[in-house]
Amino acid sequence: MSTTVRVRCTDCAYDEAFDSLRRARTALDDHERATGHAVDWQIGGLTAGVERAGDDAGVCGRDECANADSPLLDHGPSAAADPDA
Ligand SMILES: [Zn+2]
Repeated sequence: MSTTVRVRCTDCAYDEAFDSLRRARTALDDHERATGHAVDWQIGGLTAGVERAGDDAGVCGRDECANADSPLLDHGPSAAADPDA
């Protein structure tokens, strides 16, 4: 799987594609610093992967992430340490 990052300047004809996010960022920063232009970038073929990785990591903010049945969410003192034990 390869990632294509396209860096495109909105103020001149600068338009280049990179196979690495880091290289694209460096080129973008260089061009903006050198010329003062505003540079756009597009990440091709990455969006789906990022969303999938977010799901795998259990990123919160979704309804199904709030698991009311999970014992980890029960911080009641009686559950943590039973005084009668
Ligand atoms: Zn430019």
